[in-house]
Amino acid sequence: MDRRRAIRRVTPHTEPPALSVPADARILRVAVAAPLGALLDYLSPENGHPVLPGMRVLVPLGRSRRVGMVTSLATGSALPVASLRPVLEVLDPSPILSEGDLSFLLWAAEYYRGDPGEALFGALPVRLRRPRPLLDDRPRGWRATASQKQAAAQLQRAPRQRELFALLTAHPRGLDDATLRKRAGDCSAPLRALAARDLIERCRVAATQPAAEADLPPRGAATPPALNPHQAEAAEAVAACSGFTGFLLDGVTGSGKTEVYLRLIDRALADGRQVLVLVPEIGLTPQLHQRFETRIQAPMAVLHSGLAETDRERAWRAAASGQARLLLGTRSAVFTPLPDLGLVVVDEEHDLSLKQQDGFRYSARDLAVRRAQQADCPAVLGSATPALETLQNARAGRYRHLILPKRAGDAREPEVLIADIRAQPLDTGLSHALLTRMSTEIEAGNQMLLFLNRRGFSPVLTCHDCGWISECTRCDARMTLHRGRALLVCHHCGLEQMQPVRCPYCQSPDLRPLGQGTERVEDTLRQRFPGIPMARIDRDSTRRRGELERLLAAAHRGEHRILLGTQMLAKGHHLPGITLVGILDLDHGLYGSDFRAAERMAQLLMQVAGRAGRADKPGTVMLQTRHPRHPMLELLLREGYGAFATAALAERHDANLPPFSHQAMLHADSPRQGAALEFLLQVLDLGRPMAGAEVEFWGPAPAQMERRAGRVRAQLLLQAPSRAVLQRLLARLLPALRGLKRPRELRWAIDVDPQDGY
Ligand code: ADP
Ligand code: ZN
Ligand code: ZN
Repeated sequence: MDRRRAIRRVTPHTEPPALSVPADARILRVAVAAPLGALLDYLSPENGHPVLPGMRVLVPLGRSRRVGMVTSLATGSALPVASLRPVLEVLDPSPILSEGDLSFLLWAAEYYRGDPGEALFGALPVRLRRPRPLLDDRPRGWRATASQKQAAAQLQRAPRQRELFALLTAHPRGLDDATLRKRAGDCSAPLRALAARDLIERCRVAATQPAAEADLPPRGAATPPALNPHQAEAAEAVAACSGFTGFLLDGVTGSGKTEVYLRLIDRALADGRQVLVLVPEIGLTPQLHQRFETRIQAPMAVLHSGLAETDRERAWRAAASGQARLLLGTRSAVFTPLPDLGLVVVDEEHDLSLKQQDGFRYSARDLAVRRAQQADCPAVLGSATPALETLQNARAGRYRHLILPKRAGDAREPEVLIADIRAQPLDTGLSHALLTRMSTEIEAGNQMLLFLNRRGFSPVLTCHDCGWISECTRCDARMTLHRGRALLVCHHCGLEQMQPVRCPYCQSPDLRPLGQGTERVEDTLRQRFPGIPMARIDRDSTRRRGELERLLAAAHRGEHRILLGTQMLAKGHHLPGITLVGILDLDHGLYGSDFRAAERMAQLLMQVAGRAGRADKPGTVMLQTRHPRHPMLELLLREGYGAFATAALAERHDANLPPFSHQAMLHADSPRQGAALEFLLQVLDLGRPMAGAEVEFWGPAPAQMERRAGRVRAQLLLQAPSRAVLQRLLARLLPALRGLKRPRELRWAIDVDPQDGY
């Protein structure tokens, strides 16, 4: 291990390389923070500050002023130079994005066909999207500006100054005032003297020093377990590679993937590199966050959407300045500058939360791999249920496939039982078999988890007399009854109405809830098992800040005997006290209209099942289904996710679906019936002649839920045999599409490599 380490690249902590800017370049290529679809050319200011890529500028745009980001400098323009306008103001004294950051962000904008300005500015803290300066709250301090040799002669007769100078020389990035005082006592006079000799200068000091010097709060030094042979082999494989390689770390829940990440992170940090760790949702995985905090002894920044804007900016700056050595974040963290990036980890890489589904739509997982490629460092994608795309990448040799076949430590994998619920009376969705099993576990003093991916009391309210059903007026969808709050809520557009007492149509008081959500199941369970402590965990019960953490912590301590929840419970928490997992309904996944439905169902099933069990109390999973003979389900339960994935990939291959083909989806919507379809028909007419015979167009067709939030939606799917063919078509089609006449109220969007919406 040590030998390999010796040949690993050491971070060059030198100044950035000279920028590739021609001396006579006066033309600035600027990404303007506005949806313009392209970069614009401006002239650099006549006699102002020299402008470099990565600096923000204030530019005139029509009659308004906008903030822009200089992406490159050029000597020529496609437009006559005389027609170009100079920038009004240079906003940053030095670049706030490096050339590497710029090229990554522009690449992302181009690949996902986003707007370059929106992509670049979307990656900055909100305040920097406006003409405000970058705040620098790093502590002030001093750094040496001369060499030891230069100083030695001058300081012969000033031992105090000599001593201080030597101390500063040992810290090339400088020492802040507080640290200096602690190390050298009151030293303001000799420091002033050194400054007067031009040997040192005032500076801002980032706390990149090792923990002891950066005054980190003392942390519990958790001792890591010794890796088992599979973990060690995986960690070795990654550590042995010095440049970019993609890895799939494929291991069942609890197989010790996180432990492998931690080992790799330690190593990268020791080599002076920064690490990026992406997770689907931080709020849902407080355990992971905590584990990093106790194990990683280096400054760490956390970025997620739940943070206040100032905290986001602070984290962004800490990462961008190199002060934070580890950045743990959700999907948008992939855009954060990390000057010393040396390792990228994506946990639960299959998770849909890593895909941005509106605005600038991107896959944070795929971009993370791209970033690692650009930084020439390893990317590790971990999952117990890898996305079929990722598995195919591994099988085709593009990623290395690392497998952790068993649970770490001694915990055994759960056994899965099928409860066939065809022609069975159910009590609020609970079969007799499941209820009996629950009673047994309760008597044995065990803890259990019930999973139902539907919140609310019931998905619909009906009138028993006239057949009225609670439909949303703005969507083609039903409104869910939330009885606790006495509301009907549309889960698609958010519309809320008071729960009616009488039928709005025939005035009958006989209104009945149909079907069940978690709220209703909770009611039933409280009646069936009175006095048994129980917690419901879904988006409604965890609305209050900190409530989820509180419930999970209590669950961990074993306070709740029955946990009932939605998808929220499927993610990331290992609850070792749980001996029974009941899955109430996953059948929609077996026959869903989206070709990914089966994949998602399999992932969810394995993830939920993986929450349970430990060595002395192995877990059992009971799955209720009306399709116990479904071939994919049988395969999954009999042979596991890997075998399921192989079969599912074969089906995709035969049907020529992703990952064996590549797709882009054009969405359009309008309040007016027909407008979206009309627009997409025009796009089809425009695109067909541009595309080769190998490109398929599907649609346009109404969206699965045609009306949503009052807008009528349609979509057009493009499918090509390769990314290159698809990208070439999009590069021609989208600029032309922007030129199409369309009604003002019509909106459209492009989704490259879409993950849902069929
Ligand atoms: P995963 O990320 O694959 O779900 P974790 O890394 O969280 O797995 O490990 C699951 C549990 O097993 C944790 O409690 C962890 O501390 C423990 N564990 C992991 N690796 C080992 C090991 N080599 N020896 C003993 N316990 C381990
Ligand atoms: Zn009625
Ligand atoms: Zn609605």
